[in-house]
Amino acid sequence: APTVGVLALQGDVREHQQVLTDLGAEVVLVRTPAQLETVAGLVIPGGESSVIDKLSRIFDIAEPIKKRISSGMPVLGTCAGLIMLADTVLDAIDGQRSFGGLDVTVRRNAFGSQNQSFETELDVPELGEPAVHATFIRGPVVDAVGDRARVMAALPDGRVVAVSQGNLLGTSFHPEMNGETRFHRYFLDRVTDHAA
Ligand code: GLN
Repeated sequence: APTVGVLALQGDVREHQQVLTDLGAEVVLVRTPAQLETVAGLVIPGGESSVIDKLSRIFDIAEPIKKRISSGMPVLGTCAGLIMLADTVLDAIDGQRSFGGLDVTVRRNAFGSQNQSFETELDVPELGEPAVHATFIRGPVVDAVGDRARVMAALPDGRVVAVSQGNLLGTSFHPEMNGETRFHRYFLDRVTDHAA
């Protein structure tokens, strides 16, 4: 089984750890550059992107993560994790940075406040049937998709909520919360391919 990391600075770390463990992966909670070196792929959880950004710089792990992303490490980012993967972040908190890698522009909190959270059945053609039960909690919307990135899913109104690019995959919603395992499987497949 591949050894993968969950970035464990802030956010819903445990939910991701559980899904990955259930799928048979060895999971390391990553807080330091040394721990990052032991993993073949990384999940960046949902939470608060400005806090994840700040802590990643305090823990000196932001630069090492960027380097691993450039060298092709598979990464799955959900919600705040998608924000951390985006090259451009709109409505960022002052001075907020992302790791980047995904050729997209995201807008933070684009669905409104916490009490405007919602769940919906989302068609993700690449994952087939059934539709994904997607939970949105103050998630970002992908406002622009660059040439290198690819839309994986959009809401019926056209707003893009899942994108991929090579070994990177980002979702505006929280597949880790609904017993949905296909995004994590997709990620683990990228990890296996990348290691081969
Ligand atoms: N609003 C959060 C942010 O900007 C993301 C919310 C989430 O991850 N559920 O980081």
